[in-house]
Amino acid sequence: MNSANRTWRNWGRSVAVTPLSVERPESVEALQLSVKRAAAAGRRVKAVGAGHSFTGIAAAPDVLLQLDKLQGIIDVDRERRRVRFQAGTRLYRIPGLLSGLTLAMPNLGDIDRQSLAGAISTGTHGTGAGFGGLATQVAGLTLIQPDGGLLTVDDGDPLLPAAALGLGALGIIADVTLQCVPAFALQAQEESELLADTLAALDRRAGSTDHFEFYWFPHTDRAATKSNTRLPGSAPLHPRPPLSRWIEESLLSNSLFRATCAAGAAVPALIPPVNRAAARLLGGHGYTEASHRVFTQHRTVRFREMEYGLPADRLPAAFAAVRQLVEERAWRISFPLEVRWAAADDRWLSTAYGRDTAYIAVHRYYREDHREYFTAVEEILLAFGGRPHWGKLHSLDAASLAPRYPRFNDFLAVRNRLDPDRIFANEYLDQVLGP
Ligand SMILES: Cc1cc2nc3c(=O)[nH]c(=O)nc-3n(C[C@H](O)[C@H](O)[C@H](O)COP(=O)(O)OP(=O)(O)OC[C@H]3O[C@@H](n4cnc5c(N)ncnc54)[C@H](O)[C@@H]3O)c2cc1C
Repeated sequence: MNSANRTWRNWGRSVAVTPLSVERPESVEALQLSVKRAAAAGRRVKAVGAGHSFTGIAAAPDVLLQLDKLQGIIDVDRERRRVRFQAGTRLYRIPGLLSGLTLAMPNLGDIDRQSLAGAISTGTHGTGAGFGGLATQVAGLTLIQPDGGLLTVDDGDPLLPAAALGLGALGIIADVTLQCVPAFALQAQEESELLADTLAALDRRAGSTDHFEFYWFPHTDRAATKSNTRLPGSAPLHPRPPLSRWIEESLLSNSLFRATCAAGAAVPALIPPVNRAAARLLGGHGYTEASHRVFTQHRTVRFREMEYGLPADRLPAAFAAVRQLVEERAWRISFPLEVRWAAADDRWLSTAYGRDTAYIAVHRYYREDHREYFTAVEEILLAFGGRPHWGKLHSLDAASLAPRYPRFNDFLAVRNRLDPDRIFANEYLDQVLGP
């Protein structure tokens, strides 16, 4: 946020907006008042988390609510391992907050910069065929309504499957109760291998490894695989040597990768040999660390991303079609494609609603034009029954999304009831849910 002119930009630099006002409430009462005042003045109001969505889902044209002062634990139900957090709590703070309780979040995505409310609201997920996305960890939440009133949505409430992954469309979330698990460690095995070998064993590896994913480097025949196995929290730790963490994060996400992306943007012919070198350098090591240290990495190179969730059994054919497309076109793509898994869940707008899911994600350096690549890949993934990640770039509107989500119209009915005057709307929500 630029404080001089109040212009807000998202992390991927794909969205910018100058709200009429920016408010940073320090208590739930102040947050309620902000919402009530905005609604009474006929203004739209949106909470912004870490701005890590690539779509305009968080754009707040009228009143922008920044919840960084609403972080931390509110209360704990030790018996049920449930912890209620303030909605603005950043994910990277949660392991520290939970450590004294020897609890952890069951699964996480690639990074932990997001706010809790922001992450659940767009369907943020990690990988693991037996594990759901972050919204499936929600055992309750409190929504602030247009009149400033509080609506408590508990476990078992028929509203929970809508509100736990609500796109920010149903109200401002004041707190979130997470169903935690006993703290655990992950034994990680990272390998560089022939893509053909990875693909030949996909079902077995994704099905038998707790958390399996792979990256394919375009213009190469190689994949980098990550297989994480859950161990009790008391398991002896064998941390990754700092040099290997540095190599991986530099190659995939940070300093060295930034240099190669910039060089590749200027001289695209450099990309294939750089990808080949990176694909070979990654992998070949194992380590055991606390779960959050294995799940998440630092990502400092800005990029744009599109990701689709597909019925898991359609992944091999969809991946083959995308690979063929990349090989046929003259594009030079520096970012690897990422493939992950999630278990079927019951969150109405979840990309994994009602079906075991595999994800294909494509990325481009933010200074490159992503449009032709993303559009062509999107066409393929839609044909395989894909559902787009709500926080990542895509072109769908309400009419094309509705048939992809069995409970879409039920969600719209809840929205009509909770926000009839659309004070929580913005241009993106108009596009994906309708006005
Ligand atoms: C580098 C990077 C890595 C990523 N890795 C992954 C990944 O591994 N897996 C994955 O699935 N996604 C990933 N994402 C996408 C990201 O997790 C989502 O876009 C997520 O929603 C961002 O969280 P945020 O806190 O930045 O929310 P924002 O983008 O700021 O907001 C998202 C939505 O939440 C709403 N919101 C925020 N706070 C509240 C509140 N208190 N009440 C109501 N609504 C609220 C906003 O209004 C908006 O609708 C990644 C993004 C980036 C940039």
